[in-house]
Amino acid sequence: MTKNVHTKDFRFNTVALHGGQKPDPNTRSRAVPIFQTTSYVFDDTDHAASLFKMQGEGYIYSRNANPTNTVLEERLAQLEGGVGAFAVASGQAAVTIGLLTLAKVGDEIVATSALYGGTYALFSETFRNFGVTVHFVDGRNFKEIEQSINKKTKAIFTESIGNPNLEIADLEKLSEIAHRHGLPLVVDNTFATPVLLRPIDYGADIVIHSTTKFIGGHGTSIGGAIIDAGKFSWDNDRFPDFTKSKPTLNHRSFVEVANEKAFIAKARFELGHDLGATLSPFNSWLFIQGLESLSVRMNQHVKNAQVVAQYLSKHELVEWVNYPSLLNNSQYELAMKYFPNGVGSIFTFGIKGGLEVAKIFINSLKLLSHLANVGDSKTLIIHPASTTHSRLSPEQLLQAGVTQELIRISIGLEDVRDILADIEQALQISSRVTGTHK
Ligand SMILES: *Cc1c(COP(=O)(O)O)cnc(C)c1O
Repeated sequence: MTKNVHTKDFRFNTVALHGGQKPDPNTRSRAVPIFQTTSYVFDDTDHAASLFKMQGEGYIYSRNANPTNTVLEERLAQLEGGVGAFAVASGQAAVTIGLLTLAKVGDEIVATSALYGGTYALFSETFRNFGVTVHFVDGRNFKEIEQSINKKTKAIFTESIGNPNLEIADLEKLSEIAHRHGLPLVVDNTFATPVLLRPIDYGADIVIHSTTKFIGGHGTSIGGAIIDAGKFSWDNDRFPDFTKSKPTLNHRSFVEVANEKAFIAKARFELGHDLGATLSPFNSWLFIQGLESLSVRMNQHVKNAQVVAQYLSKHELVEWVNYPSLLNNSQYELAMKYFPNGVGSIFTFGIKGGLEVAKIFINSLKLLSHLANVGDSKTLIIHPASTTHSRLSPEQLLQAGVTQELIRISIGLEDVRDILADIEQALQISSRVTGTHK
């Protein structure tokens, strides 16, 4: 096979294995090679000059683009249903570059408030210092969202599954509001992955990933990606930087140079180039391996999560479980609409007896790993209020839905009976030590 496999011809699982790759014409290597190189030889001076003006195809320098990263980018773009992608050094870099490609000093962003702790800190501290104001809104309060939009707004941002309270974004509604105001909808799809949800199918314009999580899948590498749906019309009063001609582009605009890929081209050649949050080709290669088994892993993650959530929800030592795929969950209907195959494998629960019992429970676990990550093939657990979300004030914690007794768990791929046994022995110890239960 020498063809470049594309979603136009093949289905999801096939694209996850072949998308974006043409076997190397020189070596015919079946696996994607790691192009561990900084730079690329030009044919001649005219060729060099044309590449620098974005006229014609070819690589210049791996801070902008690298052939291993290109395979990851094209594969991810196809899996999410987009036209292009830019792989970067981390999920944080993806959110930063994705949003600052749209908004600069004096501009505003409207973001739902149930967010990954790092994103919340980025928006409320660093973006503010850059002169970009983020308005945090309740993702369920569409009126509040509309009222937060003004002339300076450049994007609506949400997570498809909010962290850590698992708020499911009503993407159809959010994209309808965004588009009515001439704004792109930007969706962090890290917790869901394109296996469980493709935000572009519901109107999202830009999709963000921390590939560190399920896409890498094995807790080995930090990385991120920005995916462009290619549907947003930048020819709109709010985005003159996309239609303005630039000397660096041979007096053309990003829309003229890259057409439907204007956004991802601007992200790569401006902030990607200038900030330098480059993904290494080796990490890129590991994410490619991750994509190849993503669908098989996600389906098993979800199966295990269902079993553990159900078990905890019936447990006498457990106060509550928040997993939207459970029948009694307040988001069950939204979960069925957007996540018919399960709302991922990260969920939260509260142990009877509150914070002190929760601490003993976590300290008594033997198999489950107590650490700050999600989406590993191993089961992970953490107490967000004292760790990932500890930079938030009490009011911000409340707004983000992080209570003191809340424990977040990311269910892995171990035999689910071993996961249950470890949870059970730790629950028993925590209840005995504190004496809150007989
Ligand atoms: C982890 C994570 C990020 C940040 O990604 P890094 O790769 O850690 O920089 C952003 N959003 C979500 C939802 C995440 O889980």
